[in-house]
Amino acid sequence: MAVNLLDFDLDALTAWCEAQGEKRFRAVQLFRWVHQKGAADFEAMSDLAKSLRSSLAGQAEVRALPVLSEQQSADGTVKWLFGVGAGNAVETVFIPEEDRGTLCVSSQAGCAVGCRFCSTGHQGFSRNLTTAEIVAQLWHAEHRLRARRALPPGERAVDNVVMMGMGEPLQNYTALVPALRVFLDDHGYGLSRRRVTVSTSGVVPMIDRLREDCPVALAVSLHAPDDALRESLVPLNRKYPLAELLAACQRYLERAPRDFITFEYCMLDGVNDSVEHAHALVRLAGGRGPRGEAWPRVPCKFNLIPFNPFPASGLSRSPRDRVQAFASVLQAAGIVTTVRKTRGDDIDAACGQLAGEVQDRTQAFERLARRRVLPIARDPAEATAVAEPALEGRA
Ligand code: SAH
Ligand code: SF4
Repeated sequence: MAVNLLDFDLDALTAWCEAQGEKRFRAVQLFRWVHQKGAADFEAMSDLAKSLRSSLAGQAEVRALPVLSEQQSADGTVKWLFGVGAGNAVETVFIPEEDRGTLCVSSQAGCAVGCRFCSTGHQGFSRNLTTAEIVAQLWHAEHRLRARRALPPGERAVDNVVMMGMGEPLQNYTALVPALRVFLDDHGYGLSRRRVTVSTSGVVPMIDRLREDCPVALAVSLHAPDDALRESLVPLNRKYPLAELLAACQRYLERAPRDFITFEYCMLDGVNDSVEHAHALVRLAGGRGPRGEAWPRVPCKFNLIPFNPFPASGLSRSPRDRVQAFASVLQAAGIVTTVRKTRGDDIDAACGQLAGEVQDRTQAFERLARRRVLPIARDPAEATAVAEPALEGRA
């Protein structure tokens, strides 16, 4: 099959062009056509020699993802559902704000981490996306939005990318890093390192590798101030407990483009949202564990996310005044804290509502049932009947 040029960062494209006997600068021209102009047809690449254009046509292509649906919310949020084959689909969300346009990009079909409050996690895991499938989400959104809004050349629609769609980006590291490089490259999308954010549930060794290979802004999904509670929400905490995670955050900041980590905290009614939890977070931010033990001190900001409910979770959203009281405790301690506005919830595009379509290969239903998040069905036929609406996970 022809190679997909969306799979290459500029170094890889240069190596590929050289292997075809082409000069290095041809790779830059080609890369700019693909990413800056959104071209997919080699014949349109007018400054490339005719001979190169025809040899490209035989061996390479710009293979975008098929769009299964596009929905626009009343608040301007746009959600695309892209097919990635074998019955799997992933979602990408564009969130327009006054001063910027943010694209929320998926990294996997499903997710193997299985957080209790996340609809993607409840669907189980099918597979990692390729670099091309990650890049294709920005490629499509950027060029489609530019055309629709008739933006002048040089003006971009997306200037902020957050890896906060479906999947755990640091469990798909080898495909993620070249994609981030395409986002950052001045010949690609030219995004600032401060405006590309990887969000992780805490894959400690990969936080260290990202610091070396491609430091961008880091968001860590914290959700709890102590290990026992965090384990019940984010199973990965058993492998990488809080003190280790905070140490990795501290090391990351040595090379990060920002001087703080963003801690995301999903507000779950009666679970992690009391004033006591907020005080424990203040201690954590000050380098103290739940029993007053010394923990790595991490300069941080908090982003409180009102939980977006879906039926199978059995959880509900914290009331607004509880979120406010919680935020006030953090703010009074001098910690910058924002409450995320829920955007696009009328089209199920809000955080944690991204469900796509996932052909689970990990028996997510059985895993969640074992952890008693879902009712345990004795009869397999009954299990399927309960699993279907549960795994669909729509609010
Ligand atoms: N896997 C990564 C990135 C994708 S999830 C991570 O966990 O960080 C992006 C963010 O959405 C995370 O902070 C996650 O905790 C949050 N989230 C997941 N489900 C949610 C829900 N139902 N309501 C609100 N936020 C949710
Ligand atoms: Fe995976 Fe993130 Fe959802 Fe947890 S919150 S299941 S890590 S996508």
